[in-house]
Order: sequence, then C-alpha cells, then structure tokens
Amino acid sequence: MTNLEKQTDEILALRSIFDTKFRLLDDNNQYEILIDFDLIEPFIIRYNDERTIINHLPPFTLIIHYHEKYPSDYPPSFMLSCFYFSKSSLQNLCQKLDNYSFIKDEVCVYDWIELIKHEITNEIILQTKDDEQINDLRALNGYSNENIDQIYQSLINYNNEQHDKQFRNQLQTCLICTDIIPGMDFIRLHRCGHFYCRSCLNNYVKITLNNGKFGEKLHCPQHQCQKALPPNEIKQIIQDAQLYQRYERLTLQHALESMNNVIWCPRSVTNRKEK
Ligand SMILES: [Zn+2]
Ligand SMILES: [Zn+2]
Repeated sequence: MTNLEKQTDEILALRSIFDTKFRLLDDNNQYEILIDFDLIEPFIIRYNDERTIINHLPPFTLIIHYHEKYPSDYPPSFMLSCFYFSKSSLQNLCQKLDNYSFIKDEVCVYDWIELIKHEITNEIILQTKDDEQINDLRALNGYSNENIDQIYQSLINYNNEQHDKQFRNQLQTCLICTDIIPGMDFIRLHRCGHFYCRSCLNNYVKITLNNGKFGEKLHCPQHQCQKALPPNEIKQIIQDAQLYQRYERLTLQHALESMNNVIWCPRSVTNRKEK
C-alpha cells in the first residue's frame, strides 16, 4: 500500500469512529478531531480554594496534517488546541506526542488520541502560576494567567448547558402526574432542581395563587421541599399576564403592610386592598 492509500484508509476509519467530531479542513490532507475525555465520576475542577464537580468537559481539538512521508518515514504534523489547558501543559503534551514511539509504515493518529485522552481522568487544576516560556507554535489557544477566572466560569457554564441538553433529550417522569414525557416539556425549578411537567406546574401555581397564597407560601410542590418560587419563575410557569399582575399586586401589598413605617396615602389607588 502506498502512503496515500494508508492515509485515505486512516481518514475513513477515523471518520467512522468520530463521526460528526471529525472534519476535513483542507483537501484530503488536513483534518481536525474533537476529542471527548472519558471522565471518571466525580470529576473535579480545582481553582484556588474552589472546587466544582462536573460531568462534562468541552472537547479537545487535535489538528492533523499529512505529508508525503507519512506513514512510511515520519509521523504526521499536528497542532493541539484546548482553552482550559494551560499553554505549558499543551506544550508538554506536544512533546509527549513527539516522544511517542512511532513505528514506520504504521498509522498512529488513533493511538495519539488515546494518549491525549489519558491526560485528564478525574480532575483538572486551573493553575495561576504558569510563567514558563512558551514557544511551541503547535500549542494553540492554551490559557494564561489573565483569563483564568473566565476559564473556570466557562467550564461550569458548559457543564450546566450539557446537563440541561441531556435532560431535555431524555424521557423524564413527572412527580405530580407520573407521566413519562420528553424532558423538553418539563420545567425545572431553579432553587431546588425539582422538575414537573408544564401543565401540572401551571395548574399547581394557578390554583395556589387563586387560593391567595404567594411569597413564601407559594413553594415547590414536592413534599418536604419548602423552596419558594421566585417571581420570574412564576411568570414563566403561568404564562398569564393578568394572573401575574395580580400576583405582583398581592406581593407588593403584603410587603407594604408588613412595614411599620408606611403610611397609606388616602388619595392613592394603591390604598385599596386586593380582593
Ligand atoms: Zn405532570
Ligand atoms: Zn423542590
């Protein structure tokens, strides 16, 4: 087999393994693969004194460039990109790939991917001291000291987005009506994380409001969960402008009545009690 045939075969194999995470970049000799890490639970991100447990990390990008001497003589050229790796750890990883014992005539990209995957298993530590001289141009997009706060936050945001996406795409059971329906038809309460199908939650909130309960008394329907629903969540659940206005009036009136130093203006309409 010629080098070109082996390269074509390797591309076919990688494309079938990585599917949408594989992308040809230029003619047939350059491509990128988005590599997902297999995280061992609980996976921890550490940053200064903070630690967060997550389940999802953004993919790592490996860019491969074939040349005519691969795989007969040398490994292909590559570039590595990952925004939550420090510049120096990306550079170290470049060196690891350089030190990989390449066997002439054998393709190596899949083995490289396995090697990269083993870089992260159960935690990452975002370090603020990373002052080594960086000169390996193949290490793209690593973080430096200045933007480390943003990196930490964007990893948390990414994890939350993936978690929501997974929830929306799976079947879930409503704790009120016990129906099993797709997650996208559910509302998850921000304060406690309990979730209910839209129509059950809508009915529950409307009935509770119509019974004159609001504020701390309008809480998550889960038995023993007393987390009150915040106004924006109530608005989203009931989808009823008139009812929401009534809720706002009740809340305001209640708040004013509980203040000792408020004197009602006899000419103001707000003096009238909500019936
Ligand atoms: Zn339900
Ligand atoms: Zn709850």
